[in-house]
Amino acid sequence: MTKLLAMAGLIALSGCAAAPKSAAEAVAPEAAAVAPVAAEAESEAPMLATKASYDAAMAAADERQRVFDDPAMSISLQGELVQGGLVFGQTLPGATATLDGEPLMVSDDGRFLLGFGRDHGASALLVIKHVDGSVVRRALDIASRPFPVDRIDGLDQSKVSGFTEAQLKKIAVDKEKKTAARAVTAPETFWAGGFSWPVTGRISGVFGSQRILNGEAKTPHSGVDVAAATGTPVKAPAAGIVRLADPDMYFEGGLIFIDHGQRLESAFLHLSRIDVKPGDRIEAGQVIGAVGATGRATGPHMHWSLKWMGTLVDPQLVAGEMPQAELAGSAGN
Ligand SMILES: [Zn+2]
Repeated sequence: MTKLLAMAGLIALSGCAAAPKSAAEAVAPEAAAVAPVAAEAESEAPMLATKASYDAAMAAADERQRVFDDPAMSISLQGELVQGGLVFGQTLPGATATLDGEPLMVSDDGRFLLGFGRDHGASALLVIKHVDGSVVRRALDIASRPFPVDRIDGLDQSKVSGFTEAQLKKIAVDKEKKTAARAVTAPETFWAGGFSWPVTGRISGVFGSQRILNGEAKTPHSGVDVAAATGTPVKAPAAGIVRLADPDMYFEGGLIFIDHGQRLESAFLHLSRIDVKPGDRIEAGQVIGAVGATGRATGPHMHWSLKWMGTLVDPQLVAGEMPQAELAGSAGN
């Protein structure tokens, strides 16, 4: 399914998996300064000029893919050490870990995540402390990536700027809901089975593009967009627990958050239908809702973003190539 899954066999550590903790570990809410899940939309023509350069960059990122499997150091990392990359880590049971001094959640059987934001610097430091007291320090080179500029016109101006008092109130209420939904995360490693595309079709917007909406510079695109007809089922890309399911957010429209554990969370925007509720346990591939054009959108599509410890990462890197047969079916979108 995904590259990550394909490489799962590389992990050859001998630790026995202890049962996960039953109670969810509370995690401090993100600071207010953390960028909200950005609402977005898509356009057709402006993307064409940048798509070729983006595809070239993706191919280069694939070449840079690095896999570490170093039993001597008791750390295995799978994924891309690149801006926007999410890396699956495995070490010995009982270890603790930090990334650039920030404590990471590590499962009882030694699994952890590393994420690198769009603007991450050229290096990062991973420190693992084993139960026997030994410490492993690994300097990681983080490759940079170009991000296209994405101009989108024709958006409802009331969703872009010049908000009324009532709209600002609604935006503030929505923000509180999102913050509350992110305040808790599961200790389980639901992410460990890898990720697949929630919807298949033409990719109409890429992670990290600089967005210019109705001529106004906005925050970079927070996720990936897939063009699909309203009503197309949206499937959970991995297992998890629903943390938010709201049909009417100001920017996002119909919005679902799924907690994949260890502070990794998917968001699905602009949904026309929501089939789940907060607290639901979701299996990978389960239908959670349907594609729509609610909130700030110019047409029906599915927006998927992935956030790890408050840092947005690129879903396209973990979902891998879009299935070709499905692509053919969506030609003409
Ligand atoms: Zn989007």
